[in-house]
Amino acid sequence: MNEDDLKQKLTPEEYHVLREKGTEAPFKGKYVDTKEEGTYSCKVCGNKLFASDTKFDSGTGWPSFYDALPESVEFVHDITHGIERVEVQCAKCASHLGHVFDDGVGTPTGKRYCLNSVCLNLETTK
Ligand SMILES: [Zn+2]
Repeated sequence: MNEDDLKQKLTPEEYHVLREKGTEAPFKGKYVDTKEEGTYSCKVCGNKLFASDTKFDSGTGWPSFYDALPESVEFVHDITHGIERVEVQCAKCASHLGHVFDDGVGTPTGKRYCLNSVCLNLETTK
């Protein structure tokens, strides 16, 4: 799918976050407090990314997970605004998803994947 098609498919906010590495406003995202069971997949390509049982309440205002599904994401060194971070991208379509930090205190991995709700689609398991 080319960028023009994506602009048609996505809302302006989704496009900005996914394709221009934007960040949604904290505490406003659809999935911040979601506790339903299921799998979160990429809004652009449908690649399965995160399982609901790795989601935790980080208090940051963004949906947070302590682990990604195997080989679902790629990590990119990011020094935007002079801040050193690790960007998380979809491994299939390279869309921006969020960042991963090492401050997931008390989680099994010690990681905190800080994601944007607009990048994700939750498929719930019934
Ligand atoms: Zn994708």
